[in-house]
Amino acid sequence: MKLQKPKGTQDILPKEAAKWQYVENFARETFKKYNYGEIRTPMFEHYEVISRSVGDTTDIVTKEMYDFYDKGDRHITLRPEGTAPVVRSFVENKLFAPEVQKPVKMYYIGSMFRYERPQAGRLREFHQIGVEAFGSPNPATDVETMAMAYHLFTDLGIKDITLHLNSLGSPASRVAYRQALIDYLTPMKDSLSKDSQRRLEENPLRVLDSKEKEDKAAVENAPSILDYLDEESKEHFDAVREMLEALDIPYVIDTNMVRGLDYYNHTIFEFITKVDKSDLTICAGGRYDGLVEYFGGPETAGFGFGLGLERLLLILDKQGIDLPLEESLDVYIAVLGSSVNSKALELVQAIRKQGFSAERDYLGRKIKAQFKSADTFQAKTLITLGESEVESGQLTLKNNQTRQEITASLEEIKTDFASLLEKLN
Ligand code: ATP
Ligand code: MG
Repeated sequence: MKLQKPKGTQDILPKEAAKWQYVENFARETFKKYNYGEIRTPMFEHYEVISRSVGDTTDIVTKEMYDFYDKGDRHITLRPEGTAPVVRSFVENKLFAPEVQKPVKMYYIGSMFRYERPQAGRLREFHQIGVEAFGSPNPATDVETMAMAYHLFTDLGIKDITLHLNSLGSPASRVAYRQALIDYLTPMKDSLSKDSQRRLEENPLRVLDSKEKEDKAAVENAPSILDYLDEESKEHFDAVREMLEALDIPYVIDTNMVRGLDYYNHTIFEFITKVDKSDLTICAGGRYDGLVEYFGGPETAGFGFGLGLERLLLILDKQGIDLPLEESLDVYIAVLGSSVNSKALELVQAIRKQGFSAERDYLGRKIKAQFKSADTFQAKTLITLGESEVESGQLTLKNNQTRQEITASLEEIKTDFASLLEKLN
């Protein structure tokens, strides 16, 4: 029996979790400014919710799904991504109804599961922050959503992050491009990886997304999808570019970027940064105007992105960005003697009840060890409680930085601790 965590998973211990909380709260605050509300969907879905919407020929569906049959013989999969579940929920809860304000803007934060080869920034259980906006075909929605991600990164202090942009156009323009790509790749079929030889038959655009060296070399001079866009697709893409420029958001056009999921059309994008000299995508998304209909809803535009939290934290770390974490404790109570155990409990509870963070000694340790704990917890104020303090009803409060002290009654501490702290600081 293995009593270790499964391969590709992580325990996030409190010190690390503090960073996660900071970044998650930062994202929540950002999304609020853009009028997004949170949605929470199940961690597992019916297999079909994911398979055809993400794409039967994609790596996610063919290789990476954590799927199984449950005790009722239902084909279930842990969710590998957030968009298909949110669209499923949008339709199931009839959020397309006219009385629901459009666009419907929702974000999620949670675990995703993919059976991958674990490496830096690639896990089997990982976490995404994602957003989805439904009901706006306006290119301003594309741009505002990319701007939201861009500012989330730059406001966190991340440097050297590049927005890669492409358009997949309408389904009609994609058909024309697909043929051009087949014509281009077929003569060099033998030089492609086994996977890509298969992709060439099933879904040639997937070859562009391959991470194999030989495939990357083969597609280097592939025809550009931008040359196959129809008028409407071109207009949309031009509008997106103009608005990005108006907002001073730098971008590069990357015509070989197709994204690893089949549901996209028109705008697609990735935010890429360098970690130890190799490219790492932290955030990716785009437009998916056909997906609501696929799930049985009315024709509804959609735009969203998914952002990898592990990768975001990895980059913050690699770039040496210090997050302003609140790590200190308001009060530490040194407890002298087992006879005051119960009084110490009353005191620490009374302080917590007034809204302060407080800790005490539980182990009857020597006073020196207790003061050391206070320093470790970065306690701002120290209180010592022993028999003499209980008898006199008078306690000493010490500012642990300035060493200044004041005396106060037990009653005062229990009822108006805030005023005492003001005197002490
Ligand atoms: P990649 O090309 O790196 O495999 P992807 O195209 O499969 O990424 P998406 O499905 O677009 O990724 O997911 C959006 C984001 O989620 C990625 O940009 C990345 O930050 C994160 N992500 C995807 N897979 C993993 C993973 N296995 N471990 C950690 N983060 C991941
Ligand atoms: Mg992948």
